[in-house]
Amino acid sequence: MKKYYDVIIIGAGAAGLSAAVVAITRGLSVAIFDMGALPARKVLASGGGKCNITNTAATRDRYFGQNPDFVRGALSRVSPHDILNWAKNHKIKLYEKTPGRYFCTDGAGVVVDALMRDVWDADIFYDTHIDSVAKTDMGFMVNNIMCKNLIVATGGISFATLGVSDAGYKIAKQFGHKIIPPRPGLCALATPDIPPELAGISINAKIKIGRAVVQDDLLFTHFGIGGPAAYRASLYDITNGMHINLIPDMDVLEILKNTKKTNGRKTVAGVLGQYLPTRVAKWIAGNNTRNIADVRDAELGRIAEHATNFHIRGDKIKYHTMVSAEVTFGGINTRDISSKTMESKLCPGLYFAGEVMDITGDLGGFNLQWAWASGRVAGNNVCSE
Ligand SMILES: Cc1cc2nc3c(=O)[nH]c(=O)nc-3n(C[C@H](O)[C@H](O)[C@H](O)COP(=O)(O)OP(=O)(O)OC[C@H]3O[C@@H](n4cnc5c(N)ncnc54)[C@H](O)[C@@H]3O)c2cc1C
Repeated sequence: MKKYYDVIIIGAGAAGLSAAVVAITRGLSVAIFDMGALPARKVLASGGGKCNITNTAATRDRYFGQNPDFVRGALSRVSPHDILNWAKNHKIKLYEKTPGRYFCTDGAGVVVDALMRDVWDADIFYDTHIDSVAKTDMGFMVNNIMCKNLIVATGGISFATLGVSDAGYKIAKQFGHKIIPPRPGLCALATPDIPPELAGISINAKIKIGRAVVQDDLLFTHFGIGGPAAYRASLYDITNGMHINLIPDMDVLEILKNTKKTNGRKTVAGVLGQYLPTRVAKWIAGNNTRNIADVRDAELGRIAEHATNFHIRGDKIKYHTMVSAEVTFGGINTRDISSKTMESKLCPGLYFAGEVMDITGDLGGFNLQWAWASGRVAGNNVCSE
């Protein structure tokens, strides 16, 4: 162990290791501290173990936070294609699950192995929880070791089973940075308005949250809704509620009225069952077993509204737990960080990388792309004066 390093990085996750790779390539001495016994545990768990490593659609529009424009600086310097090239150079086999969305054929472990080969020259201290740092004229003091530059890459505080802490926020605050209050992101949504009997059923649905619309697979759960549609909806402010279209792109009222005319002996649930799983169709039909011919048009209108514009009030829905959320929404306000270098505007030599900042990506490889890109940019700018 040396007494002085050019760079100390707190956090051996995707962002911290990416920063280390670049700093080492530039000939800098690097030490990394991590509270866990292993590096990059979130990368290992990512993409269901297959690591959705990046997404070629990673542009500003797929990012959220108080200032999503902030991502432009890093993404223009480190693109998804740079990450695909890195994977290719490390002989990591990828497959494109849906257009632009890349996963690792041989699992997430190969990504971590490749990163660890790249940072072989760094001194890594595991099981070392860093809670605070000191600033002196010489630089920063971390765990009694001095460094000229410090990169805080401690990630978010969600999914605690993989080892998280709020130390990054504390260190940022120590140097005058503001924190956007963290909340769960890319998570399920809890509501009493969905009957638990539907748990386990998945359908394609469109969710409207204010002016935003997401369409994806929605999973009914015993406490509300999950699956990609709910996860993506969780990136918006749900305090004013949402509307769910369970049969998107169909004129359900027209279908019900036509069936009433042409096939009046069918039940409403039977008609809806052509487009939805039986249990969901019955719930929407209100367990109405009458023939559709006997159901008034006004009631058909209410049923169609239920199917295509199911309203959940803001006070009846909430983000479902920090413990199970894939990412943390909020974090260090990017206002006081340079988007070109990731350096603090308040404390020279202090850098941030990855999820610890108030940047959240959409579902689909965008969060790792942010971690890789912001980490590399930080690693490329430390000690650059
Ligand atoms: C289950 C799951 C699946 C996911 N799948 C995907 C996916 O497929 N694609 C995608 O793009 N994103 C995915 N994500 C999100 C993505 O993994 C994260 O956004 C990304 O890993 C963040 O990287 P990071 O380096 O900023 O933070 P982290 O990966 O969280 O790394 C932070 C590191 O800092 C260490 N640390 C924290 N506090 C301290 C401290 N006080 N002292 C020392 N060390 C500390 C932690 O131990 C950790 O190693 C997933 C997340 C989860 C939870």
